[in-house]
Amino acid sequence: MAAMATETKPGAAVPATVPKNGGAPNSWGLGDGQAIPWEYAPAPESREIVTIRERYGLFVGGKDVASSDGLTFTTIDPSTEEPLAEIARATEADVDTAVRAARQAQSKSWGKLPGRERAKYLFRIARLLQERSREFAVLESIDSGKPIKESRDVDVPLAAAHFWYYAGWADKLDYAFPGRVAKPLGVAAQVIPWNFPLLMLAWKIAPALAAGNTVVLKPASTTPLTALLFADLCRQADLPPGVVNIITGPGEIGMALVTHPDVDKVAFTGSTAVGRKIAQGIAGQGKALTLELGGKAANIVFDDAPLDQAVEGIVNGIYFNQGEVCCAGSRLLVQESIADLLIAKLKDRLSTIRVGDPLDKNTDVGAINSRAQLDKITELVAAGVAEGAELYQPACELPGRGFFFRPTLFTNVAQSYRIAREEIFGPVLSTITFRTPEEAIEKANNTPYGLSAGIWTDKGSRILMMVKRMKAGVVWANTFNKFDPTSPFGGYKESGYGREGGLPGLQAYLRLEDR
Ligand code: NDP
Repeated sequence: MAAMATETKPGAAVPATVPKNGGAPNSWGLGDGQAIPWEYAPAPESREIVTIRERYGLFVGGKDVASSDGLTFTTIDPSTEEPLAEIARATEADVDTAVRAARQAQSKSWGKLPGRERAKYLFRIARLLQERSREFAVLESIDSGKPIKESRDVDVPLAAAHFWYYAGWADKLDYAFPGRVAKPLGVAAQVIPWNFPLLMLAWKIAPALAAGNTVVLKPASTTPLTALLFADLCRQADLPPGVVNIITGPGEIGMALVTHPDVDKVAFTGSTAVGRKIAQGIAGQGKALTLELGGKAANIVFDDAPLDQAVEGIVNGIYFNQGEVCCAGSRLLVQESIADLLIAKLKDRLSTIRVGDPLDKNTDVGAINSRAQLDKITELVAAGVAEGAELYQPACELPGRGFFFRPTLFTNVAQSYRIAREEIFGPVLSTITFRTPEEAIEKANNTPYGLSAGIWTDKGSRILMMVKRMKAGVVWANTFNKFDPTSPFGGYKESGYGREGGLPGLQAYLRLEDR
């Protein structure tokens, strides 16, 4: 905290300049509906480290090339709505060229390299990512709207960690699957979303390359810049041409890529609706497919939980990355006997969250990624109010331009409300109460999704019991949103299938044959 504008003791009258926070009781003793009167001096991260070019081409066969019809689209800074760069809009002919480049590299160079040689390239990429981490973090925050402290401390280090981890597997494929021979699948088509642009790239490219495949990757249209900077890093690492190809363009180009007849493996992260279209589009083509789709995770707090710790976990669960997280803890299930206390503590904590400039090191919640996503969040929050839920938003000031949304907490939510059923993908938490563990399990599993869940309790035996009965691919206990490259991640039901991370994440890029 850089400066405290007014010294206010708990219980003392709050200056008139301090905005009201919506009439909530405040257990810090500030009085009814009063925000904490702290102000932070700006602490902006410098943009100087990044050079954003006016135009970016496609990265195909190791070269930066324009699209075959010369068309481009604009990527903007969601915190200011200002244009950042013109990006090549790939055509179907470009998709074909990229897949050919990947095929040639797979059969002539990369696929023939021994694992230990592939590992050297992956280690080099990991090292370069670390060396250039500030550049990647700043660019990620500018293009996506996420706070710099998250791109700096989570996205970029985890992306590097994935390359380190899979580099370690590249020369051990002969031992990873006892009794089986592991062979690469060939060319992988990878389509990734905008919420973790660089990290999703790493999740996709690192295991594919370690296993001996080559890739054509399409980033989301609102966040192409770190993928294109990664193209530069591939050149710096002397990666053989065609091993990594990056094409940019709209969803239909993603579809042209995954359905291309010379693609062997498809990996997609994004919405369930598009995942379904991809599964239909490639049905019968004999391609391997992994889908990592949406979620509506329950974060369950029992009456014996460490409440202050749980509050931090709830905040991290839903307000991390503006709630634009597939595994976000968007449904808070709280045991009825502690609901009032927990909600009061949560409201206190929400009044300290700083929303604003993604490049400010103090910012907790940055900009929503796009106008379309902001509209979707706004629409669902209005639906929550119309259906009868009680809305709470802290009185934080939002910047005058850009796509920002206040951290939002709903109480009195019925399971039938849209805000309890649909993936909002924004900083919006819906609270539902329960009385018994049975009821918690039933409510938690009452969703078409099955990606993640959280459990907060003092009892180890209860954790083990709950974990067994949750229909979710990842279950965190007394923590939330913890990621590690060694740990498999993926869902059930409409959250998709297949696993990324760990050995299962490597296996998804391999064909296992009998010795
Ligand atoms: P999409 O699923 O549309 O986008 C994800 C990726 O798929 C992008 O690269 C996109 O390209 C591409 N894509 C879009 N349509 C197709 C298609 N028909 N065939 C192949 N690829 C395609 O997500 P949205 O950006 O539209 O977000 C909508 C909602 O999806 C969000 O509100 C959120 O609920 C959910 N979502 C979930 C994510 C997750 O991690 N589980 C991630 C992102 C969104 P382009 O960007 O060019 O459209």
